[in-house]
Amino acid sequence: MTSTKIGFIGLGIMGQPIALNLRKAGYPLWVYARRPEMMQPLTAVGATACTSPQAVAQQSEIIFIMVSDTADVEQVILGPDGIIHGATSGSLVIDMSSIAASATRTLATTLATVGLQMLDAPVSGGEKGAKEATLSIMVGGKVEQFERAWPLFQILGQNIVHVGNHGAGQIAKTCNQVLVSQTVVAVGEALLLAKAAGVNPAKVRQALLGGFANSKILEVHGQRMLEHDFQPGFKVKLHHKDIRIALQTAHELGLAIPGTALAAQNLNALMGSGHGELDSAAMVLVQERTSTVQLTEKG
Ligand code: NAP
Repeated sequence: MTSTKIGFIGLGIMGQPIALNLRKAGYPLWVYARRPEMMQPLTAVGATACTSPQAVAQQSEIIFIMVSDTADVEQVILGPDGIIHGATSGSLVIDMSSIAASATRTLATTLATVGLQMLDAPVSGGEKGAKEATLSIMVGGKVEQFERAWPLFQILGQNIVHVGNHGAGQIAKTCNQVLVSQTVVAVGEALLLAKAAGVNPAKVRQALLGGFANSKILEVHGQRMLEHDFQPGFKVKLHHKDIRIALQTAHELGLAIPGTALAAQNLNALMGSGHGELDSAAMVLVQERTSTVQLTEKG
């Protein structure tokens, strides 16, 4: 299987370490990133740099995508120098970006008309999970394509679930973000409550890590909040995008998700105040504005 030719498009915070793990496992790899310097760590370990998604697709049997938003995936696949113009029949496109499930289903149908297969395979676990190959991978698409991709998924993650047909992986990721966004808000509230009550919020976090309130968000985001360390990580602008997708999906379904809508207000406020590039733990900055206290003296 390590003779399978792999392509990778989008080498940001997540794409770069994921692509590196595929290369380290021995796969021949063709890569594309809009900013050529992002390809350097990959070419340094033997990957070949390409000038377009089309050029990547011409060389590859399985093509991964890890870009930002729905319109970006559409451009990478269908644009003038997109995958669809380079891929040979039977090739498999695996989109790991977090995008709208409805768009994923349309893309899968369009690709099928020219003999191309698609899986949606968004992930959870952050930059750390990408680097350490411990990602949770939620997959939508045909079972036989899931089985084809299985050896590659095993290189990249630990909890790999075929959730259902096309779009099911993206719906699982949307559910993930519904939980994450509200938990970030809850962690910020808890730490600020401790501080306002004159109790050390770091000690409160430490005490809660061993009980029922423990979570990855309390562990990771809680620490970032205490230090006001908002180096991404997972950017506010991407979280904002994910919650837009969640609210749009609920709107289409006629479903009330008021907790998520509340979290969206914090993300809106951060976007409006120019904080889109910060880590999404910065949601606590919005909570601090309406509080009597701050978690650090940095402001
Ligand atoms: P990122 O660091 O901003 O990287 C995104 C990359 O996509 C950038 O390098 C960007 O290129 C490229 N890109 C965007 N639009 C493109 C287009 N139209 N054509 C070609 N390249 C394009 O973001 P990330 O954190 O890696 O996130 C990538 C995806 O994974 C997102 O959907 C995100 O929601 C999801 N995700 C992220 C995390 C996380 O913790 N970071 C966790 C789970 C899932 P430029 O550099 O030229 O802008």
